[in-house]
Amino acid sequence: MSDQIEPAEIRSPDDPALVDLCDQLRELSAALDFQDAQSNFPWPQQQLDLCARYGVFRWFLDSQYGGFGWSDHDVTLGYLALSAACQTTTFVITQRTGACRRIALSGNDFARDQLIPNLLDGTQFSTVGISHLTTSHRHLDKPVLQAEETDAGFVLNGFIPWVTGGVHADTIVTGAQLEDGRQILIIVPTDSAGVRAERPADLVALSASHTGKVVLENVQVDRQWLLAGPVENVMTSGIGAKPGGLQTSTLAIGLAAAAVDFIFSESEKRSELVRPAKALRDELEMLKDWLLQSALGKEACGTEELRRRCNSLVLRSTQAALSAAKGLGFITGHPVGRWCREALFFMVWSCPQPVANAQLCQLAGIATE
Ligand SMILES: Cc1cc2nc3c(=O)[nH]c(=O)nc-3n(C[C@H](O)[C@H](O)[C@H](O)COP(=O)(O)OP(=O)(O)OC[C@H]3O[C@@H](n4cnc5c(N)ncnc54)[C@H](O)[C@@H]3O)c2cc1C
Repeated sequence: MSDQIEPAEIRSPDDPALVDLCDQLRELSAALDFQDAQSNFPWPQQQLDLCARYGVFRWFLDSQYGGFGWSDHDVTLGYLALSAACQTTTFVITQRTGACRRIALSGNDFARDQLIPNLLDGTQFSTVGISHLTTSHRHLDKPVLQAEETDAGFVLNGFIPWVTGGVHADTIVTGAQLEDGRQILIIVPTDSAGVRAERPADLVALSASHTGKVVLENVQVDRQWLLAGPVENVMTSGIGAKPGGLQTSTLAIGLAAAAVDFIFSESEKRSELVRPAKALRDELEMLKDWLLQSALGKEACGTEELRRRCNSLVLRSTQAALSAAKGLGFITGHPVGRWCREALFFMVWSCPQPVANAQLCQLAGIATE
């Protein structure tokens, strides 16, 4: 019998247990950036197990599904705390949650009853591979994942370009397109014949998220795993996740907060850092306020404008932290170098085209069209 003392589940964002969890995640975060002797980055299993024990996976679902039913406002506060402590673990949780919410809220009782209990207690892992229906490979003539309808369900052929934790997943929530253009959202059990998760890509940052391609070759998926469709533009139904959601901006602000805290701690010895640290903190507080207002349904600005501003802040604040850390911050293992690389992720993660365009114009020093 284990003599490990179970921590209290975190029931609200002001629960002191959230601080305990974040301290542990922060402590463990540096190791995720180092490859082992076989050039593999570690998967944050220990971190995910911790999150399961603290009840984090239950924040995102209502009590009728076994969750704690946190409001969007409280989820935002929770994500802000987690992402300031460890971006990789928090990012993996967003993809896991994307799958869980779609499974729970699709109306497919079979899938929900089969999967949700084990996903909430952390004994199973599910993830999403849906970017090819939204932001990835959209310029190609042929859809990268095709579906053919059969009496029993669907046969899938092609690949899912981006799947975080695909090599660890028991199930993947993905989308595919039929020949007539209609799309489906479906759960693929990864032990189905023909599913192959490729070796995760080595990334500029967040390599420990084990993100990579999943190839599907004549994979037969029973209709009982269908979450939505066949219908045109299946993602617009927004099952389990609001379109243009706030979580990307939230994780950017969490990372910016870690960088700004670092500059403040350095400014205790170096007065020249105080003014830029205060300016960045003021901007951070403003954006955090806008974010939380949006989570309450009272938008201070549009979601895309918020994303653009959060992207800008996370890039500037992490680089300001590097400037404050000087050469020491440029040595592998120092957190600010990692934060700078992690901030680059927000330039590409689920980035809507108008935000990418505005970002490019800003970098080019020209006005947005
Ligand atoms: C670390 C990481 C983790 C991720 N995890 C997930 C996940 O778990 N689940 C998920 O669903 N998604 C995930 N994504 C996907 C992500 O949200 C975006 O969809 C993805 O970053 C978009 O980039 P892309 O290279 O696929 O875009 P693409 O649009 O496919 O661009 C790729 C290349 O195609 C060319 N190209 C692009 N547009 C055009 C055009 N109009 N005409 C001609 N050529 C063009 C360019 O050469 C470009 O470099 C992840 C991405 C990353 C980087």
